[in-house]
Amino acid sequence: MSQSPPTPAPASTPTLSVQTSTSPAPPEGSGRDLVVLDGLRKRYNVGQPNETEVLHGLNLRLNTGEFAALIGPSGSGKSTLLNILGLLEPATGGRYVLDGQSVAELDDEALTRLRRDTLGFVFQFHHLLPAFTALENVLMPVLSRDGRIGVRERERARSLLDAVGLDQAVDRLPGALSGGMQQRVAVARALMLEPKLVLADEPTGNLDTASSSEVFALMRRIHEQVGTTFLVVTHDTRLAARCDRVIELVDGALASDGAPDPG
Ligand code: ADP
Repeated sequence: MSQSPPTPAPASTPTLSVQTSTSPAPPEGSGRDLVVLDGLRKRYNVGQPNETEVLHGLNLRLNTGEFAALIGPSGSGKSTLLNILGLLEPATGGRYVLDGQSVAELDDEALTRLRRDTLGFVFQFHHLLPAFTALENVLMPVLSRDGRIGVRERERARSLLDAVGLDQAVDRLPGALSGGMQQRVAVARALMLEPKLVLADEPTGNLDTASSSEVFALMRRIHEQVGTTFLVVTHDTRLAARCDRVIELVDGALASDGAPDPG
């Protein structure tokens, strides 16, 4: 287990006081399985001459409340795995159970619902909508779920922006924010619908070292205060060392899985 000191929240950043149905992180090993992969396989170009298998029967469990890194060389299958975990593409073999539901048995509508109700996404490029303010961007998942935005949702979005240290930026357009601030808006947006699991794909890959450290510290703080489970793909070994668990993929198979290397 890494003993690297937690990065303190900036003094001006309030505690994450947003209401959530998720419980605080349970002690290690005691959480219930949020993700279960049994012999998970992925083939591309099935039936074609160039058919290739890129995930070769992964067995993996993620407990509720874990904060894990997913690392591995380029081409090892991290994005493919994240896409499958995010219900963005199907596996071609094995079993994936998310929050107690075997995803292979779900139709498109049920998959969309499970994705919306269970998962939050943070990408390397924030994908904020440039014509909408920070507040409107954070509210976007509510708009696509409900078709309208209520007073409570607006309050929650404000308190999330407050919690990520952007209370002064609610009405600013993404173009008027720094890269780190934009990514903090993206983190707030990912949390808007109270996901149980946040899947983050190189969330700090586009940021300078200071902003990267700040965004990472923010995710750790959310984990600590709200108990959201995180799986973070990163190339950055220093960030991986600040996670509680490091899962390493090499050539589509698990190469190691455990506490970060203390070195
Ligand atoms: P990583 O995220 O670790 O860099 P990827 O999941 O992107 O790895 O890729 C794993 C392997 O799968 C690579 O060999 C890549 O070329 C292959 N691959 C990824 N997407 C596709 C696709 N849509 N069609 C065919 N091969 C793919």
